[in-house]
Amino acid sequence: MKHTIANLESQGSNHLQNPSLHETLADCNTMLSIENVTHRYGAVVALDGVSLAASQGEFLTVLGESGSGKTTLLRVISGLETPSDHGRVEIDGMDVSSVPAARRNCTTVFQNYALFPHMSVQQNVEYGLSVRGVSRDECTRRASDSLDMVRLSNKGNRRISQLSGGEMQRVALARALVTQPAILLLDEPLGALDEKLRQEMQAELVDLHRELGMTFIYITHSQEEALTMSDRIALMRHGQIIQSGSPEDLFDRPNSRFCADFMGFENIFPVTIMEAEGNSVGVSLSEYSIRGQWTGTEAAQVGEPAFAAIRAERLKVSGTESTDTANNQIECRPGACQYRGKYVDQVAEATFGSVRIRIWDRNVQFENFRRVSWHDSDCVVFPS
Ligand code: ADP
Ligand code: MG
Repeated sequence: MKHTIANLESQGSNHLQNPSLHETLADCNTMLSIENVTHRYGAVVALDGVSLAASQGEFLTVLGESGSGKTTLLRVISGLETPSDHGRVEIDGMDVSSVPAARRNCTTVFQNYALFPHMSVQQNVEYGLSVRGVSRDECTRRASDSLDMVRLSNKGNRRISQLSGGEMQRVALARALVTQPAILLLDEPLGALDEKLRQEMQAELVDLHRELGMTFIYITHSQEEALTMSDRIALMRHGQIIQSGSPEDLFDRPNSRFCADFMGFENIFPVTIMEAEGNSVGVSLSEYSIRGQWTGTEAAQVGEPAFAAIRAERLKVSGTESTDTANNQIECRPGACQYRGKYVDQVAEATFGSVRIRIWDRNVQFENFRRVSWHDSDCVVFPS
């Protein structure tokens, strides 16, 4: 079996303390390894036994709602915060638990930029080098290279107050890159930008990451941003990592109600497991028998309660005349309908409650439908 960081992590933090697996982690080019880190602010548990690893050159996104512990996690990595209980942080194979922030091989880009307003763009970027005692000439050369990377080479003499929000964020990025850290930590760096600029900067960051081959740890609360930018996503809730995996893993195969809900599944129904064969499970949803793909980490147990989740756009509507005898058909009647421009959100009322349907195809006759149906592969089932 090929050991990847993702599947080692999924075996849990206890396994990470096992020395043989630890060596394997080092083998697969681990740039960052966090083990069982807990951090409290007074009575608040901001991080609750977090284990996470990132390989050299990986774009890892930490996704989660406000207050879930993302910033605290970055602060623990960068050394601005010392874990209160226990835990271990390694950067590039070295335990940095007692290494101060200034000597860790990582730099943070903050959402609020944290630039020096009284200095020029060039001086802001040079600052990190000059305090490290780098020579005048080299400071200038490296700062210019760095400004080049973020396409600001012609604005070196500007004052910070003469820049747009997007340009300020680029300066912050150049200032972080100039020290050539092993890991770039980005804390919601695009949060303050308007939508169009945000999308441009997303693409630029992905390009920059590819060019530099640096490890990026990127924080966001936006699932769309996480899905479009990352190699891997770690979803946080209440100071814990709920699920980590590729964007497809999280989007298509959530393994908990929280993850399904966060990743935008509109339909999540309580069901009971009736049969299980590998990943394919049959479940009862009210009086219906339906099939889906099991995503739970433990094997499915017949008789246990679970949830079945289906995206609104994967549902098909049909009338009573339909001769379709496929699995997964629910009798229903049309409920509220909302025009959304590109698509229509339609509610269907079934015996067990409301089903949300998204109709993209303008040619679908959806006013008088009597059934909704879907493919087995579009329904995921996970433990409740
Ligand atoms: P996120 O970045 O995901 O929004 P944070 O890591 O900032 O989350 O916060 C996690 C939890 O810790 C929250 O409940 C927050 O209120 C709390 N917290 C963060 N910083 C402090 C602090 N300096 N003092 C007390 N509580 C804090
Ligand atoms: Mg934060």
